[in-house]
Amino acid sequence: MGRIEELIREGEAALAPVFAAVDEIAYENQEKVIRAFEKNRIALRHFAPSTGYGYGDEGRDTLGSLFADIFGAEAGLVSPNLVSGTHALTVGLFGLLRTGDTLFSVSGDPYDTLLDVISGDGIGSLADYGVRFKKCELKEDGSFDYGSICAGLKDPSVKVVFLQRSRGYAWRDALSEAQIGEVCSFVRSCGFSGCIFVDNCYGEFVERTEPTQNGADIAVGSLNKNPGGGIAPTGGYIIGKKSYIDRIAGRMTAPSIGAEVGSYAYGYQQLYQGVFLAPHVVAQAVKGSLLIGRVLRELGYATSPSAEKLPYDITRAVRFHTKEELCAFIQAVQSASPVDSFVTLEPWDMPGYADQVIMAAGCFVQGASIELSADAPIRAPYTAYFQGGLTYEHCKYALKKILHSLKKSDGVEF
Ligand SMILES: *Cc1c(COP(=O)(O)O)cnc(C)c1O
Repeated sequence: MGRIEELIREGEAALAPVFAAVDEIAYENQEKVIRAFEKNRIALRHFAPSTGYGYGDEGRDTLGSLFADIFGAEAGLVSPNLVSGTHALTVGLFGLLRTGDTLFSVSGDPYDTLLDVISGDGIGSLADYGVRFKKCELKEDGSFDYGSICAGLKDPSVKVVFLQRSRGYAWRDALSEAQIGEVCSFVRSCGFSGCIFVDNCYGEFVERTEPTQNGADIAVGSLNKNPGGGIAPTGGYIIGKKSYIDRIAGRMTAPSIGAEVGSYAYGYQQLYQGVFLAPHVVAQAVKGSLLIGRVLRELGYATSPSAEKLPYDITRAVRFHTKEELCAFIQAVQSASPVDSFVTLEPWDMPGYADQVIMAAGCFVQGASIELSADAPIRAPYTAYFQGGLTYEHCKYALKKILHSLKKSDGVEF
């Protein structure tokens, strides 16, 4: 057996107990999803296309209540007309906040694409409408800064407390559901009676529960990620307390029509089937991330989260020593992809980013990051972020390619 096969086999053997735990979580989440299908009496008619205004579109309405049941929430908006996670988050925030209100992030900076939504100048941001923003950072060890949170909540204009479950582009662990539960109770104990709002992107089905089962009022995410199961063609979701969902629905379409309109001529089958597949697909991605993380760590690369224990989202960061290694890694992910495997990647000046970015996304659904995908800004420390993988086998195949090309790039001896 070659050295590369040996490294992979050792990694798999060492991870066997963690993989077993991942399978158990996948099973429990699958059961939860199927129960919600039963409860909502899902039938073929729910997959039917609709047109025009979509009055009485049962497929649309039932998809919302299906997601709400899966996430232990009262109501849900799930729509192909929510074009991405950023859009769903934007609709949610604009639905809840009014002039003079404050949005308070207790997990540091929100995701990059939300920065302009919150404080962009003259582009229709929340700031342009007179909504203020403040944040408090997580502590060095990733825990909440409870003192600053309580102090921040003394301001009566705070109407939405914001949490980001996943790591984004930061070298920190995702928030665990236990941590989310704890901070939600803490926020309430400080007397806060507004909305606790969670950016749930990349977190769905990684653990046994979701933020709305642990004290959050609203959770939002993208169907190009976990809950789309790799086959939803597009879309986003917003789920939570009915009173908040009603306000958000007024912003999603128009205040007079809310969630009563909206059609989809393509039909909803893949959105239903996607969330049915999601617990399994997420488990595949989690195992892939653990294997790639573990083997690269054995070769001396720093990686986050830990490659030993259950993670709290599907993303992983790996630090390389040089730009060449970093690019070799991203290119190997592209070359191992089912789509556009022949493409030679080049770093480019992506709008909104200070450094050049290199990106691998050989996906069936364009840019879907529940599929194996990776990206990195070209700057020291040379950190690649990757996530996804519809099958564990695909992740393993990609790892072989990664190891071959790192060897060629003279990065490591093995
Ligand atoms: C991906 C992501 C978003 C934005 O979702 P898009 O679908 O890319 O617009 C927001 N927050 C987090 C934490 C994400 O991972």
